[in-house]
Amino acid sequence: MKYVFGPVPSRRLGRSLGIDPVPLKTCNFSCVYCQLGRTRPLARKRKAFFSVSAMLAEVATTLSQDGSDSINWITFVGSGETTLFSRLGSLIRFVKSMSELPVAVITNGSLLYLPEVRKELSAADAVLPSLDAGSETLYARINRPHRDFSFDRQVDGLLEFRKEYEGCLWVEVMLLGGINDSTEALRDISAVLDRVGPDEIHISTPTRPPAEPWVEMPSREGLKRASSIFGSVARVLQPIEVDVETGIDGELVDGILAVVSRHPLQEVEVVRMLTHWVPGRVLETLTALADSGKIRIIERYGKRFWCAADTQFPDQRTAGNPRPGLFGPRSPSGLSV
Ligand code: SF4
Repeated sequence: MKYVFGPVPSRRLGRSLGIDPVPLKTCNFSCVYCQLGRTRPLARKRKAFFSVSAMLAEVATTLSQDGSDSINWITFVGSGETTLFSRLGSLIRFVKSMSELPVAVITNGSLLYLPEVRKELSAADAVLPSLDAGSETLYARINRPHRDFSFDRQVDGLLEFRKEYEGCLWVEVMLLGGINDSTEALRDISAVLDRVGPDEIHISTPTRPPAEPWVEMPSREGLKRASSIFGSVARVLQPIEVDVETGIDGELVDGILAVVSRHPLQEVEVVRMLTHWVPGRVLETLTALADSGKIRIIERYGKRFWCAADTQFPDQRTAGNPRPGLFGPRSPSGLSV
């Protein structure tokens, strides 16, 4: 499958069947916490990157194979910014005509200032935009947007969308230690959100490897502070483990490569997957993955993450050194070969 993945466990949407409507790392932001690395170059214009009928064919195949009982939501979630796909509105409407399942769109919210984008998203049952800053300065520091997408536009888009949209509006705030978890920064965000009036606020943490090595997790106090300042509509999202039975079809190596191209995996998760699927061939399969040249290894928070080779991290390196210790000086923790 090229466009459809899962169903995968989602922190907010239960078991979610994902549709990715943009090429890898096609985004108008380059967030410091992005798990797909830095954005080069920044996108500006919406485009019909892929054929709608090709994407719908994959959705139809998946729904006919898996049925809809094991799926809670069909979710547009890109390996970039979903609303940059210029035919998103038609795609949402077609998907809704194929299934009774609710449809969600995850977005950075930057294009909501455009009336046509708001209209397209109105067909979705839930829209989940981001807001990580309550000031122009912090917005520029965290999200590093293309110059066409100002903080004022971001806020205006959210305000206009809230006025028009009748579905569930759940805003995500990514909390970063020492950056936006101070009382002042949180009050600024809260002041914007008070004007917007989302149905829920989801406080998230950078559990996947951030683009920049200096990004830190928020402290426990920072999380408590955010919950208290955002009030009763806020909830902290708990990290979830990758489901070993998820997202893998066809050859195992290809399946893992497909997963890490959307969501970097901790090395222990890769090993756990292999131990589950090919218990007698863990070393052989790890070596095949490393030799593929399609993997980068990124170290964050003292852990090693496997990412797609096309991602751009400032300190990346390839996984092409299978011995000794399999992948360099340190062996993958938990490796049983
Ligand atoms: S986190 Fe999302 S919005 Fe930010 S750079 Fe990555 S894909 Fe774009």
